Amino acid sequence: MERSGIATVVKNTGSQYLLSELPEWNLIPAVLRGRIRLKGGVATNPVAVGDRVRYSFDEDPTPEHPATILEVLPRKNYVIRRSTNLSRQAHVIAANIDEAFLIVSLYFPEIKLPFLDRLLVTCEVYGVPVTLVLNKVDLYCSEVPEQISAFRRIYESAGYRVIETSAVTGEGVDALREAVRGKVCLLSGESGVGKSSLIRAIDPSLDPKVGEISEVHLQGKHTTSLYEMYRACGDAYLIDTPGLRGFGLVDLKKEEIALYFPEMLKASRDCRFTPCTHTHEPGCAVKAAVDEGRISAERYNSYLGMLEEDTKFR
Ligand code: GDP
Ligand code: ZN
Repeated sequence: MERSGIATVVKNTGSQYLLSELPEWNLIPAVLRGRIRLKGGVATNPVAVGDRVRYSFDEDPTPEHPATILEVLPRKNYVIRRSTNLSRQAHVIAANIDEAFLIVSLYFPEIKLPFLDRLLVTCEVYGVPVTLVLNKVDLYCSEVPEQISAFRRIYESAGYRVIETSAVTGEGVDALREAVRGKVCLLSGESGVGKSSLIRAIDPSLDPKVGEISEVHLQGKHTTSLYEMYRACGDAYLIDTPGLRGFGLVDLKKEEIALYFPEMLKASRDCRFTPCTHTHEPGCAVKAAVDEGRISAERYNSYLGMLEEDTKFR
């Protein structure tokens, strides 16, 4: 007798998928039936980690007798990566993200605020809430404590939560563990910031360099998966994004960019002119806020950089 259910995609390796009925962690091997296409989409993958799917099965699904994915349910959000800078083809990295945790470090590797600000704009465009994780604080809390507080000031005044952590001393790891609890979280960060170390610190049973989901759940040899969801501490679902430097950006018009800087959007309600580019217009409330230090000069500079580059900015 055919039965069916709703589950979340936790891993995809080519033609095979693993599903789980979150919050349960009951791994179900599955394959796609026919061609599921994203309506109007340009994605190379119709089903991504985090997607909620309807599936059916006859007997208990195994790698030899996998369940069948019938349908992808509507997404609340997703992030994509372009195949190349100029390509119109995109790969969906993950869907239905409750919160993205962008992991950064002041040094080793050195943070580039304009790059971080672009990433934040992308998350705002995609409708994904963001927390910033400033890792490796053990390295600079005694050397350059003023740079830690400067970072905090810039991003907290823009409306973002900042969690300071050290995977080495364990500082802030409890706060991070608390922040991911009960959510589907996207973990992203430049290579070397300590993302894998933090995942291991949150839950020592996990090792992202190895992968949590053993390959015995999947058929075939070539089962390398780019993105995978981990269950941490029983009720947190972490999607690791190794090697991912940024998210592909939807095309923004010049006048739209400021809508995705939350602090500028708020201030712009008092601009004399609409639309206002917040560059040369008289009576611009955003420029006034920058002059008075209510909007950080660093964020405003990132905005100006994006305005100038918007033709290349995608
Ligand atoms: P990933 O590439 O982001 O996954 O980074 P890894 O977790 O592999 O860490 C990169 C390097 O940074 C390793 O040598 C880690 O030991 C080191 N590292 C990670 N977190 C910290 C931290 O909080 N403090 C210090 N001092 N080193 C760290
Ligand atoms: Zn303005």
